[in-house]
Amino acid sequence: MSRIQWQRFLWSHRATISSRQSPCRTPIARVPTVRAAFSTSARRELMEMTGFSDEQLTVREAISNICSKFPNTYWQERDQQEKDPKEFHAALAKDGWLGIALPESLGGAGLGISEATMMMQTITQSGAGMAGAQAIHANVYATQPLAKFGTQEQLETTIPNIINGTWRTCFGVTEPNTGLDTLRLKTLATKTADGYSVSGQKIWITCAQVASKMILLARTTPLEEVQKATEGLSLFCIDIDRSHRGLDLRKIKKMGGRAVDANEVFFDHYDIPTASLIGQENQGFKIILHGMNAERCLLAGEALGLGYAALEKASQYAKERVVFGRPIGQNQGVAHPLADAYMKLEAAKLATYHAARLYDTNDGSVPFHSIGVACNSAKYLAAEAAFTACERAVLAHGGMGYAMEYDVERYLRECLVPRIAPVSREMILNYVSEKVLELPRSY
Ligand SMILES: Cc1cc2nc3c(=O)[nH]c(=O)nc-3n(C[C@H](O)[C@H](O)[C@H](O)COP(=O)(O)OP(=O)(O)OC[C@H]3O[C@@H](n4cnc5c(N)ncnc54)[C@H](O)[C@@H]3O)c2cc1C
Repeated sequence: MSRIQWQRFLWSHRATISSRQSPCRTPIARVPTVRAAFSTSARRELMEMTGFSDEQLTVREAISNICSKFPNTYWQERDQQEKDPKEFHAALAKDGWLGIALPESLGGAGLGISEATMMMQTITQSGAGMAGAQAIHANVYATQPLAKFGTQEQLETTIPNIINGTWRTCFGVTEPNTGLDTLRLKTLATKTADGYSVSGQKIWITCAQVASKMILLARTTPLEEVQKATEGLSLFCIDIDRSHRGLDLRKIKKMGGRAVDANEVFFDHYDIPTASLIGQENQGFKIILHGMNAERCLLAGEALGLGYAALEKASQYAKERVVFGRPIGQNQGVAHPLADAYMKLEAAKLATYHAARLYDTNDGSVPFHSIGVACNSAKYLAAEAAFTACERAVLAHGGMGYAMEYDVERYLRECLVPRIAPVSREMILNYVSEKVLELPRSY
């Protein structure tokens, strides 16, 4: 969706969201209520809608419309059959949503992470869960460093083909032997006459089976030869060419989000051209850092959506299920844990959209440190709030919480992902301990 298409779209939706006054990125606390305007849509939102911008609400409405064509039964089936939700990816690509946070000059909508976070939240909340989010996440996020540092060819060919859905991409950072210690990763890209030869191993690479591109982080200078561990890494946008010698993908059987594949990826002297380098050689870590805070916000939004979806199911069930002659929700033992989960989600929501707004400010007025703390805190809080909501939703359903048909078991399985990836809870606690509390580094 180009900026012009986006403006037309926004304009055509003014009638239904007309009384909102706030421009994009106005602080949530300062915006007058918009709930009355938004409640023209049939369903009442469980999430408090006050304070979102016109753009965020329009994104929510449009994405909800697309998601409504993919009901819970679609995701149940995809999860059970481990079948890629390619129709869902195609539906979002068709309307240009994969380019939501890319510049207009590259065919994107030119919106920010505040709107992209809302898009990801709306996807998970629709019932698509993490599977729906992961089917498109890398295409939205991994294109960010490409857009900022890519070559003319990458900007003119790769990005448009990712936005229009012809090519899907995945993100290759994690390695089995180094884990969260990213700077020690061992995959090596050695210079050849016309490019690089890649050898090494990646793990947990989501969507590698269906992707034609991978944004790959590899060492171009061995660790022993650099002064700082942050040096000597390079970022590449490579083809995933299964017919080519030296590349092997193996699917990992996993707990949740089974509709999307996760893989071990083996490189054995896999040749890539020089043109696949993104930005300057050996500057890959700096380039990747650029997008990390944005990804924290997207993950926070995804976690929130899952949490609200679970809570919605739980409160509905608690109203309808009658035991001992009254709805189970009339018991405080059922109601209070759900009310507490709601407040945790609402607090995490404020943290999430605050972080996204800081990220989008982008005029140098917000220190990088503040953005980092806000984005990491948001991801942590949203992931914890989602876990609380999903676990309590299962328990509120009693035995039926364990049945596929009620969806909450799927949400619980999936809500562990934002706690683990792309950075774990413990590493965020380490970061805040060190960078905010100024405590000695523990690792
Ligand atoms: C479903 C799923 C999808 C994923 N998709 C992708 C993807 O597309 N691309 C990609 O590159 N990666 C992906 N990942 C990988 C993910 O980012 C990593 O799993 C995550 O960063 C954690 O790394 P690890 O698994 O190696 O954990 P490890 O580094 O082995 O850590 C294990 C545990 O020890 C803790 N720990 C380690 N060091 C410390 C310390 N110093 N202090 C306190 N605690 C510590 C960690 O917090 C964690 O709980 C995915 C993972 C999952 C589960």
